[in-house]
Amino acid sequence: MKVAIFNTKPFDRQFLQKANARFSHELSFFEPRFTAKTALLAANDDAICVFVNDQVDQAALEILKGSQVRCIALRCAGYDNLDLEMAKALGLRVVRVPSYSPHAIAEHAAGLVLALNRKLHKAYNRTRDDNFALQGLLGFDLHGKTVGIVGTGKIGECFARIMQGFGCQLLAYDPYPSPVCQDMGVAYVPLEELLARSDVVSLHCPLIPSTRHIISADSLRHLKRGAMLINTSRGGLIDTRAVIDAIEDGVVGYLGLDVYEGEANLFFEDLSDTIIKDETFQLLQSFPNVVITPHQAFFTQEALAAIAQTTLANLADVEQGNPCPNEL
Ligand code: NAD
Repeated sequence: MKVAIFNTKPFDRQFLQKANARFSHELSFFEPRFTAKTALLAANDDAICVFVNDQVDQAALEILKGSQVRCIALRCAGYDNLDLEMAKALGLRVVRVPSYSPHAIAEHAAGLVLALNRKLHKAYNRTRDDNFALQGLLGFDLHGKTVGIVGTGKIGECFARIMQGFGCQLLAYDPYPSPVCQDMGVAYVPLEELLARSDVVSLHCPLIPSTRHIISADSLRHLKRGAMLINTSRGGLIDTRAVIDAIEDGVVGYLGLDVYEGEANLFFEDLSDTIIKDETFQLLQSFPNVVITPHQAFFTQEALAAIAQTTLANLADVEQGNPCPNEL
């Protein structure tokens, strides 16, 4: 199958080319993101392959109308960046990678918890500067603390296991409780109660209309004062301005983000020589109790290999007219 792969970096090419030895698709790699401006690059391909910050919206899909593209292959699990209804109306098959390594994301979330709690980001900089003072690095024992998990699917469940290993008490909020988590002793409670009782809150639900700004000025009123908030899921789950207010008021004591609502204009690029014109992001960066990573939670060797393998297998199913287990 001829596949136009957008938003690619050297590591994408490396893992996709290696996995393609088993499939022999004709792969064209493009650096730009897929948007209405770049969609035409795929005019002669059978499929487009996109990632989290590609804009597979109405305007971009309009451009694919009448082309030979008949499939959209997402190299990710979430599909909030895609107008699924319109894609279906155009007769495009849409496939994704629902699960590659939930461990990768859950472990990164745990990494953010540890970095924020023990101020590893500060300690690293200090010791490089031969400053070995402890003042300002005080943390707390995770053992015995309460961790609230919003969304206990594949990643939330892994995160629950990790935090249980630290000796934490676990609360969860999910409209569809996981029997596995229930067997582990995770207590399902309403969101307000989870926010009020948790020392650490970690978001692991998808970004859908009902979860957009699930962390808002309104819900933050319930948060335990000084709690830690972790988001490795999607930026749109958090109303960033409301969280900034809550940090300034001392309500949010620590914030760990791997995703950010305006990340499409920032993440995955080296902008170290440019002026970032996103004041909200710059303000967030200025707080000492905020750690931001650039949507790297998925970025492990195991996850990249699994993403490449599943994406190419999905495309093979579509090429052969077979049902695909990962079709939306
Ligand atoms: P999943 O589908 O296995 O689990 C999602 C869970 O969220 C389900 O149990 C679902 O019932 C629950 N949920 C749905 N609506 C909810 C709501 N209103 N409140 C609370 N819970 C709700 O998905 P997953 O594989 O665990 O992935 C979760 C999210 O993680 C993805 O949607 C994606 O946005 C994000 N993700 C981020 C990265 C990264 O690199 N940072 C990588 C992969 C996935």
